[in-house]
Amino acid sequence: MKVQDLERKHPPFDVASGLAEIMLKRGEVVQVIPEAKPKRVPDVHFYTCREDTRTVDFEKPPALTWRCNTCSQAGLQKGPNAHKLPVHCQCGTTPIPEKIGADYQAALAAYNRRFKRNTKPVVVAPMDPARVRAILEAKMRGLTPAWMTEADRAVFEGK
Ligand SMILES: [Zn+2]
Repeated sequence: MKVQDLERKHPPFDVASGLAEIMLKRGEVVQVIPEAKPKRVPDVHFYTCREDTRTVDFEKPPALTWRCNTCSQAGLQKGPNAHKLPVHCQCGTTPIPEKIGADYQAALAAYNRRFKRNTKPVVVAPMDPARVRAILEAKMRGLTPAWMTEADRAVFEGK
């Protein structure tokens, strides 16, 4: 138990709880209840920037960077979903502000356009064997069917 002398001349000190109770009963000391530490509030600042590291002529994609002023933790998030994920620092979780998310998406889109990166996932669905045969027959005859979809064209081109 933490106690302090009646005049508060000395800083609070710890005494075994049995002894502290006796001292309190005698009126020699007062009990000191330690104050709870105030909860830390995250104060996260966001920056959307291009990564400054380069490898020869390779320019890295943009990253969502952040820093918390309360705990001094900093970090960066990358990838197509970086703006959707909240930021975790030692004080808590902070969602990414809409403006920063939009800026990041714009920067990522600009980067992908500039370096012609294909960001659309390629969906490969199992194809009907009869359809594949029809496409290959048309190819053998030197024809290009007008009804072909993107998936058909992949078969046509032998990919
Ligand atoms: Zn923090």
